[in-house]
Amino acid sequence: EVPTLRQLYRLGKLAPADPAALRYKHAGNLLDRVSLYQGTITALEVDAIVNAANRSLLGGGGVDGAIHAAAGRKLLAECRTLHGCATGDAKITKGYDLPAKHIIHTVGPVYSSEDSEYCADLLASCYRRSMEIAAAKSLKHIAFPSISTGVYGYPVEDATHVALDEVRNFLTSETGSQIERVIFVVWSDHDKEIYEDILPLYYPLD
Ligand code: ADP
Repeated sequence: EVPTLRQLYRLGKLAPADPAALRYKHAGNLLDRVSLYQGTITALEVDAIVNAANRSLLGGGGVDGAIHAAAGRKLLAECRTLHGCATGDAKITKGYDLPAKHIIHTVGPVYSSEDSEYCADLLASCYRRSMEIAAAKSLKHIAFPSISTGVYGYPVEDATHVALDEVRNFLTSETGSQIERVIFVVWSDHDKEIYEDILPLYYPLD
């Protein structure tokens, strides 16, 4: 079982934020609905894992490559029927050989510093559309990788603020109330430290 933020606070693995830096004052039961996990997303037995795909949806490197390798060739066959996906949007497939039941493929923006606000909107849209699709299918447990922060070059701190804010907004919305757990998945130690620093600003210990 992946620990919740409340458990991470209790274990002393997540430090309460500086009150002056808090983005929100209360997290309430959100602390029981959000997790941080370090490792491969392909190991998670959840209703859906999110794939940081490209617009072709036909596979690639990074987390996309790991997901296709673990899910098997039938995933590629289903992806071919989807005819790609627009940046900021998402499409769902079955999980095939993965322990996860479904894969939600979303396409993050390729980062450009001249268009950073537009990139932030597109990145937020990836998280929102993925959760909308999950909610529409009554999926309760969903895991996200750090979308766009690998090959697509999004600065990981900026991307983490966007991700944590958008997920918080959705979980506290009416449609989001049926989602029981969101797991943020980090791969590197560096990304884990960044998530640990930024999570308490959006999900404070109350
Ligand atoms: P993008 O093209 O959207 O930037 P990448 O796959 O290159 O996507 O990187 C997105 C994030 O996924 C990065 O933080 C990368 O370290 C991470 N990542 C790579 N492999 C895995 C994996 N197996 N499970 C979870 N995260 C992964």
